[in-house]
Formats: sequence, C-alpha cells, structure tokens
Amino acid sequence: MKAQSANTTTPSDESSLQNNFIRQIIAEDVKTNKHGGKVVTRFPPEPNGYLHIGHAKSICLNFGIAAEQAGRQCYLRFDDTNPSKEDLEYVESIKTDVHWLGYDWGERLRHSSDYFEQLHEYAIALIKMGKAYVCSLTPEQIKEYRGTLREPGKNSPDRERSVAENLDLFERMKAGEFAEGTYVLRAKIDMASPNLNMRDPAIYRIKHLPHQMTGDKWCIYPMYDFTHCLSDAIEGISHSLCTLEFEDHRPLYDWVLDTLNTPCHPQQIEFARLSLNYTVMSKRKLQELVENQHVSGWDDPRMPTLSGIRRRGYTPEAIREFCDRIGITRKNTQIEMGVLENCIRTDLEAKTTRVMAVLKPLRVVIENYPADQVEQLDAPYHPTDASMGSRQIPFSRVLYIEQDDFRETPPKKFFRLAPGREVRLRYGYFITCQAVIKDENGEIVELRCSYDPETRGGSTPPDGRKVKGTLHWVSAPHTITAEVRLYDRLFNQADPGADGTDFKAALNPNSMEVLTYCQLEPSLANAQAGERYQFERLGYFCVDNVVSKEGALVFNRIVTLRDSWAKIEKAKG
Ligand code: ATP
Ligand code: MG
Repeated sequence: MKAQSANTTTPSDESSLQNNFIRQIIAEDVKTNKHGGKVVTRFPPEPNGYLHIGHAKSICLNFGIAAEQAGRQCYLRFDDTNPSKEDLEYVESIKTDVHWLGYDWGERLRHSSDYFEQLHEYAIALIKMGKAYVCSLTPEQIKEYRGTLREPGKNSPDRERSVAENLDLFERMKAGEFAEGTYVLRAKIDMASPNLNMRDPAIYRIKHLPHQMTGDKWCIYPMYDFTHCLSDAIEGISHSLCTLEFEDHRPLYDWVLDTLNTPCHPQQIEFARLSLNYTVMSKRKLQELVENQHVSGWDDPRMPTLSGIRRRGYTPEAIREFCDRIGITRKNTQIEMGVLENCIRTDLEAKTTRVMAVLKPLRVVIENYPADQVEQLDAPYHPTDASMGSRQIPFSRVLYIEQDDFRETPPKKFFRLAPGREVRLRYGYFITCQAVIKDENGEIVELRCSYDPETRGGSTPPDGRKVKGTLHWVSAPHTITAEVRLYDRLFNQADPGADGTDFKAALNPNSMEVLTYCQLEPSLANAQAGERYQFERLGYFCVDNVVSKEGALVFNRIVTLRDSWAKIEKAKG
C-alpha cells in the first residue's frame, strides 16, 4: 500500500502544478475551442492593503496559466470600486510585489474605475429592460426584507417603479442630489431565491467621496458583484479564477452577463484560498496589526505580506516553488508554515555563500598562541560548490565563540566545548578549554584555551585524534559588530482567533529577538541591503533593506537551518 499522509503539507497528485483541475478544464476548453480557443486571465486585487502570500497563490495561478499560452494574456486589474478604503500607496505596492514575484502584465494594466462609464451604461440598460430599480428602503430595511436562509425575502415597495421613474432617480443619484444611504440601484432578480445573493442585490450605491482615479467625477459607485463580471467581459477574460467564497456569487455573475449584451461570457472557476498556520491572511486583520503597532509596518519581516516576506529575505523563486507545491484544489486546508520554510531552505542551500558570525559572543583566549600573530586561513564559501570560491579568514590569540557552544557542566550528548574538552574550530584549529574565567557575580566572561598547531585548517592531527564538535568562531580584533534580528511565529496559536477570541490575543510576545552585539567575520564589511548569507550552523540571514546602513549593518534571520518547529510540535502532540 502506498503510504498516504493525512498531513496537509503533502500535495496530492491532483493538485500538482501541471495537472491541477483548473489546468485540466482550460486544456479541455482550448481543445474544444470554447472561448474561441483563447485563454485570458486576470489578477484583480482591491487596492485596500498590501498583498500577502495568499495573493501569491492567485498571482502564480493566473499569470502562470497565461504564461503557458501563446498570447501570455493576464491582466493586472485594480478592483477599485470602494474609494473609502483604497489608496495609491497600495496600488504601487501591489505593482512592486507582482513584478518581484517575476510576473509582468505588459500593456494589460487596468482599473475597474476605467470602466465606470461603461458600467453606468450597462446599469441604464438593465433599468430599461425592467431588470433594475431604484430602491429607497433604508439599509436596515433592506436587510430585514432580504429574509434568511430558511425564509424567502419580501419585495421592496419600490420594485414596481416605472422605467421612467427609475431612470430619473438614477440620474439624480448620479447628479449628487441625494445623501448616502437614501437610494440604491438594485438588480431585479428573485426575492424568493434560495441564494441570498440573488435577492435583488444592490448594484450601485451613493458615496460622496472622491476616488483616487476618477476624482470628483462620480458620487455613485458600482458594487463588486456588478463590476467584476462586467470588467471580466470587457477585457475578454476567458477564465475568471477566484476563491471559493465566490461560489455562491457565481449565479449572480452569470445572471448579469446573461441578461446584458456583453462581448463575451467568461467562465468563473473557484479554488481554495491559501491559509497558513500561525498567521492571519486577511488584509483587514493585517491592517489592524499595522495600525495598532503590533508590527513595525506592512513590511515587518514577521508579516505574511509579500513586502514583509521579501524584507525577511525570501526569494521569489521560493514563493513560486511554494505555490507549486501546495497546488490548487477545491478543499480548504491549512498549510503548515514549515512547507514555506522548506522552500526557502532548498532555494538558499544552493545559492548562498557560507560565512561565520557569532550572535552571542563568548571571549576565548588561546594562551599558547603568540599575542602579535595573525594568520589568514582559507575558507570556502560553499561546502560543495567550488565555483563560489573562498576567502581568507583571520585567526588570532583572541576569538569569539557562541555562548551556547560552551557548558561548564555539559549534559549528555553535548559535544561542544566544556572544561578540559577539545573541539574543532571550523577552518581553524583544534582547541582545548583549560580554564573558565568568571566575574564577581559568577558569570562566565572568558575561556582560556590552548590550540594544537598541528591541526591547521581544522585538520586531524598526525596522531589521528578525533573530536566530536565543530564550532564556528571569529577573530576578536577583526570582527564587524552588527545587529541581528531573530524571528519566531507571529502568533502562538495555529489558527489565531478561530476559537472566537480576538485574534490579537494570540500574538506571540516573543516573535522577535534583537541581538545588538553580534560579531561577524570581516568579509561581511561591505554586505549590501538584500544580500543573503548562510551563517554557519545558525541559519540563513538577509541584510535588512530598510534600516541597515553601511557601518551599522542589520540582518534578519530568514530561517533556521532545520525545521526545529516540526520537532517541537511532534513532541507536544
Ligand atoms: P483579503 O481577505 O485578504 O482582504 P481579498 O480576497 O479581499 O483578500 P482581493 O484584493 O480581493 O483580496 O484579492 C485579489 C485576488 O486574490 C482575488 O481573486 C482573491 O480571490 C485572491 N486571494 C485573496 N486571498 C487569497 C488567498 N488567501 N489564497 C488565494 N487567493 C487569494
Ligand atoms: Mg476583497
């Protein structure tokens, strides 16, 4: 029997990139010449926040599918129908993020607001067909008249208004004669429909607000359900891919396009949205974290936003690989953060240079090493890829090692340094701990060690003596001091707020540890913003692209070398 894990992290065959159900539908449609054999997709973000990793799934799907077709036609469309929440800052950040992920919309940049004129004409067409009416019920009344899942709704008293009266009122709504909330334009469908979305949904509302693209031109704005399908049709989209929560909206999508005379009728197909454990994935919640200063901004390296992930040091290749691995299905599952982390590890393993950095330094004096001597030792930048070359690292009488690499009374299986014990300094020498120096409080301040000159480069001595531990280190007079930020999960619950409590109560108070006295090997002196390194034995690190400065470097830990969380979780479970 083939082992099949119930784990959400194992993509099933049906979800693999080349073979997901959406690609199958599209391949079939191309074969049968549906939509004229064309494939045109779009990614339609609302510019009301920064993109998150969930959006990456949709971007990779839409741009990815288009990229496989001759015309490579994928639109980036800003769904900007709600001027109260939208902003140009978000528009710019979204463009940056899509480009960073490696996709290009070329000439196909659109805004729903580009179509406001056409949408308005379509609305008038609906009124003239007797398929839309201006309703004067208050928002509360509209809700009350809508009914429930069990009970049908009630017709609005305005439902039978004449076409002429509707046209007049709609014109006056547009002219700014009425206050917000006094009138809406509603589609006339079926107040008894089992689908609540079909119970005469509002398609235009009054908002006396300027719009970031159209300025003061409009004071009525079309609703999402009316705008989206028509924008798709205007652009000639063949396959309108969206997340599962729009499944119940599909009858309305189709009703609008069937009722109006549109250039084409795109096909809406829904897929499961991405959710990752130990984080939240809604722009509203992410905005709350920013506004309440639980994080430093949308690009805080702990955020699941693309700008945060980028600042943390993730590569676009790793994000695309992640989207590939999780696949596309119609089942909502929670993906483990470890899946994302494994993607970046795999990507960085091959392409980052190895360097040595000591995050929590402990001073080591090599007593039998001459005080005035400095040696340059050869150290390769990558253990297996010689093409990355090597550098010289200085070795001298005073070194730093990691505090965690020494124990005065070592527990079992602790193979690092301890009194009387010998270890290897990587690319350095074998050293033996001879004495432990403490301050008046009993805190360890320094180790006195000896070295074996016959182990240069960390090689085995002529007598064949073996050591169990190999440590990283730096030469104290030659280091660069830098700040390093270590990150943990932003939340300490797998599904923050799922139990009905405020999601913010699940914030992990220890999600960031700032170490300000880290000692780095001198080759890092010119490290540039955005550069990534493996600090030997510690993980992958990236020079921060916001606060790091020449002479005051700041590094973010992208990810540890191994998934320590998987182990912790296992131990708990
Ligand atoms: P949020 O709830 O985070 O605000 P949204 O769906 O309101 O997300 P939009 O700007 O409307 O955000 O999303 C643009 C596109 O990205 C839509 O097609 C949407 O279905 C898709 N999308 C949003 N979140 C996810 C997700 N978690 N997984 C996959 N696709 C997503
Ligand atoms: Mg939305």
